[in-house]
Amino acid sequence: MEKIVALCKRRGFIFQSSEIYGGLASTYDYGHYGVLLKSNVKGEWWRAVVQERDDMVALDAAILMHPRTWEASGHVQSFTDPLVQCMGECKKRWRADHISTEGGYARCPECGGGLSEAREFNLMFETFMGPVREDAARIFLRPETAQGIFVNFKNVLQFARRKPPFGIAQVGKAFRNEITPGNFIFRTREFEQMEIEFFVPPAEAPEWHRRWMDDRMRWYTDLGIRPDHLQLRAHGEDELSHYSAGTSDIEYLFPMGWSELEGIANRTDYDLRRHAEFSGEDLSYFDTATGERYVPYVIEPSAGADRGTLAFMVDAFDEEEVAGRKRTVLRLHPRLAPVKVAVLPLVSRDGMPEKARAIYEELRRVIPAEFDEGGSIGKRYRRQDEIGTPWGVTIDGQTMEDDTVTLRDRDSLEQVRVAAGALAEELLRRLNSEWRSPKLAG
Ligand code: ATP
Repeated sequence: MEKIVALCKRRGFIFQSSEIYGGLASTYDYGHYGVLLKSNVKGEWWRAVVQERDDMVALDAAILMHPRTWEASGHVQSFTDPLVQCMGECKKRWRADHISTEGGYARCPECGGGLSEAREFNLMFETFMGPVREDAARIFLRPETAQGIFVNFKNVLQFARRKPPFGIAQVGKAFRNEITPGNFIFRTREFEQMEIEFFVPPAEAPEWHRRWMDDRMRWYTDLGIRPDHLQLRAHGEDELSHYSAGTSDIEYLFPMGWSELEGIANRTDYDLRRHAEFSGEDLSYFDTATGERYVPYVIEPSAGADRGTLAFMVDAFDEEEVAGRKRTVLRLHPRLAPVKVAVLPLVSRDGMPEKARAIYEELRRVIPAEFDEGGSIGKRYRRQDEIGTPWGVTIDGQTMEDDTVTLRDRDSLEQVRVAAGALAEELLRRLNSEWRSPKLAG
C-alpha cells in the first residue's frame, strides 16, 4: 500500500486533503490522473449497468434529503457502529467489531490498555438547513445514495414507463462519520458510491440476486482484476443489516487482506414499505398483465468508486526488471487508463517535436492522448508506465523520411512500425479489442 500511496502522490493521482495545513485525516483530493482514472471506472460502470442493458435507467438525486427519509430508512435509529475507547494511555477510539478478542478479551490495539464498554455511535453527519440552528432545521448528509432512488421509485415508474423487473442506477457522494477510517482511500468519511436498486416481483428476488452477483463479479474480471484476487462471501446471520434477507460481499485481496469492495443485498420490500408508511404515498406496483398488486423486492449491488479505483490500481501495480533496470508499471486495463497514448519525439530537434505535435493533435480528437517532449526518451517512458499509459508512439528519424512511427506496447514492450495515417484506427482497434491482464499469462 505504501508503494501505491507514494506513486499516487509522485504522479499526481491522489493527494492528502488540505496538505498545506497539515492535512485533514483520512480525506483525499484527486489530481489530474486520479480524476481521469476514477471517471473511467464510473464510466465503465455506467456502460455495463445502463448502456448495455434494456432494464436500467439513470438517476442523480440530491445529497440533501428530507429528514424523514432517514427515519423511514432506519438510519436515525440504527445506522450505528459500536464504539469503544481506550482507558489506558492513548485514549484512542475504536470500532469494537474491528478489534480482535484473541486470547480471551479485547485490548487497545495501540497501547494495550483496557477498553470501555461499547456504545452505539451514529455515523451520519448532521448539519442545519437555513439560518437557524434548531432541531427542526436539522438535516443529514446522505450516508448512502440508495435512499434517493427509493424516494424516486414512483417517478420512474410513472414517467420513465418502467415495470419490474427494472433498476435505477446512481453515482454520487456519500458521507459517514467513520470511527476508524484508514487504508488510504479504502475507508474515508466522504466517498463516492455506485449503486443500483433493482426492483423485482418478490418471487423472482433470489434468482435476480444470483444474477447480479455473477454480473458484478464479471465486471471486475472483465476490467482486468485477477479472478484469484476476488471472492464472493455471504454474510452470516449476525452480520446482516436490519433490511436484508441475504447479502454477499465481493471482496478483493487488498494489501491489508480480503476486504469488501461491493455489497450485493436482497433488501426485500423493506425500503418501499417504510417510505410508503412514512410518506403516505402508495409505492406498490399493479401488474396489469396478471391483475396482481405487490410491493417489489429490491436487489441492491452497492459499490464504492474510490474503493474500486484503489482495487484496480493495486491489481495493476507491478515492478519488474528490464535490461538491468527496475521498471514500475501500472498494468491498467486500457479502458481504465487515464491516458491511452503518449506521443513522444525521440529527440527535440530535426523537426521531430513539430511532427510529433501534429500527430498528437490529430490523435487527441479521437482518443485521450498526451504529448511529452521533455527529458530523455527512457525517462518519459518510465513516467508513462507509472501512470499506466498502454501505448506509446515515438517519432524518430525514419518518421521524417517515410511517415511511419514506432508503436510501443506497455506490457509486452513490443514495438511495431505503423504508418502515421493509420495510427488512430489501430489504437481504436486495440482499445476496443479483448484485453487480458498480462499477469495471467502462462
Ligand atoms: P463496512 O462494513 O466496510 O463499513 P458497509 O458494509 O457498511 O462497509 P455498505 O453500506 O455496503 O458498506 O456500502 C457499499 C459500498 O460503499 C462498500 O462496498 C464500499 O465500496 C463503499 N463504502 C462504504 N463505506 C465506505 C467508506 N467509508 N469509504 C469508502 N467507501 C465506502
